[in-house]
Amino acid sequence: MAAHSRSIRYSLVIPVFNEEAVLPVLLRRLDQVMSRLDGPAEAIFVDDGSSDSSSIVLRALAVRDTRFRYIGLSRNFGHQIAITAGMDAAQGDAIIVMDADLQDPPEVIEQLIAKWKEGNDIVHARRLSREGESRFKRATAHLFYRLLGRMSSVGIPADVGDFRLIDRKVLDALRQMPEQDRFVRGMIAWLGFRQAEVAFHRLERAAGETKYPLFKMVRLAVNAALGFSDLPLRLAIWCGLTVSGLALLYGGWVVLLWLSKDSHLVTGWSSTIVVVSLLCGINMLMTGIVGLYVGRIHAEVKRRPLYVVQARIGFDRGEAATTPAIHAVNE
Ligand code: UDP
Ligand code: MG
Repeated sequence: MAAHSRSIRYSLVIPVFNEEAVLPVLLRRLDQVMSRLDGPAEAIFVDDGSSDSSSIVLRALAVRDTRFRYIGLSRNFGHQIAITAGMDAAQGDAIIVMDADLQDPPEVIEQLIAKWKEGNDIVHARRLSREGESRFKRATAHLFYRLLGRMSSVGIPADVGDFRLIDRKVLDALRQMPEQDRFVRGMIAWLGFRQAEVAFHRLERAAGETKYPLFKMVRLAVNAALGFSDLPLRLAIWCGLTVSGLALLYGGWVVLLWLSKDSHLVTGWSSTIVVVSLLCGINMLMTGIVGLYVGRIHAEVKRRPLYVVQARIGFDRGEAATTPAIHAVNE
């Protein structure tokens, strides 16, 4: 097993959820691309609880052809968990995640690999265009990437989905992030490393229909926002400060009117409004402060590593190797 695993150079990870309509074309194109690659490749299909014939087809394929592997999840766990399961099982030096529906063309893999060989550890595939997707989906996706870019300090690249290549060392680091609500592209961006991009035109789904209905998209967006930004938590503090500030200003104004015996002053009403809005503001402020602590707890429970090491030099030299080298320098 160990000797065998070292020989695999490329791992393709492909989540599959009821994709029987695209499988024949996908398998044909994968076969062509995999045979052109310059090293042994495996394709890992993660069956995310499909209820159509995808399971049967992929199981049979994995039995027949040693390049193909099959992981069947016990139910539908969602796209992000499915790709995590596939990456956990990957044995290659470079791991490529792609959709099953051919919206991520397998031929782009060769460009990703070329960039990897130039020394990049992460190669994103960026969408230049999105064909065959509804105006609503394109608009919400556009907004989502821009908003997330603003909210997050991590530098999550825009218009990049989960189609990317990562080096083995990036995967090893990623596997140290056990968080439950996974937004994999954010987690990979968080890791750092040398990153590059390949641009491609995203085609229409080859067959079948999207497995990402609105509620799944919203869930992904919420996971992204909560996992990679604490802006929502800080918002309460700013709202609180603004409301309390305005209440104080208004209070001052009311006192001025009262001192100048202005006849416009409605007694009883103004003071009530001042007190109510001030208390409201203080309340929000306090919620925000509690939020800051909750944010700390959230960061702790995610159990991300504190840092990720990219290279270590000079640590693993044996005694025998170091001694002569020191002599050589001294002489
Ligand atoms: N997918 C999955 N589990 C899900 C939803 C989707 O494994 O719960 C897979 C799906 O089979 C496809 C990929 O994730 O390979 C992307 O899904 P889809 O093409 O439906 O998303 P879209 O391109 O419409 O955003
Ligand atoms: Mg798709």
